[in-house]
Amino acid sequence: MSASVELACPRDAEGFTRVYAATPREFAAAQRCLHCGDEHALQRESITDKGGLAGCVSCGHIELYTLKDFPRALGITVVVIAAVLAPFTYYVSLFVAAGIDAALYAFAPNMVMCYVCHAAHRGFAREPRHPRFDREIDERLKFGERAVMGKPMRPGGTAGAPEPEH
Ligand SMILES: [Zn+2]
Repeated sequence: MSASVELACPRDAEGFTRVYAATPREFAAAQRCLHCGDEHALQRESITDKGGLAGCVSCGHIELYTLKDFPRALGITVVVIAAVLAPFTYYVSLFVAAGIDAALYAFAPNMVMCYVCHAAHRGFAREPRHPRFDREIDERLKFGERAVMGKPMRPGGTAGAPEPEH
């Protein structure tokens, strides 16, 4: 399975680009941006020797979170088709659709997101593991010292950190 990083263009936050590599260790030091056409540096030192993530490959920040890469458009399509078929199936199609969506979610692969630049990393090694989204980290990064809920950054960032309790 190949690895990819989907990141915002550093020139224009509205523009997205994507870089691929056969394995996480094979990302180049720079990537040609699909949005602006320029070369942008990649933080290759964020990739561990075993192909895991010590930090963000786009901006180098060391706090990341793991999220299900749910194919949302497909999930919605299933529900729409089920709704159209509902009157002809005594509404059984709606239950089938709920089951299909639950299965899509259960089998969806993980992706790892950066709290700061929102780059999406796919196909990297599972270790070190980054816990699911933690609102306290997000608030500290957004509001800094003014954050009421913010907790200080863990040394080493989120690599191998426990799951948030809330
Ligand atoms: Zn980042």
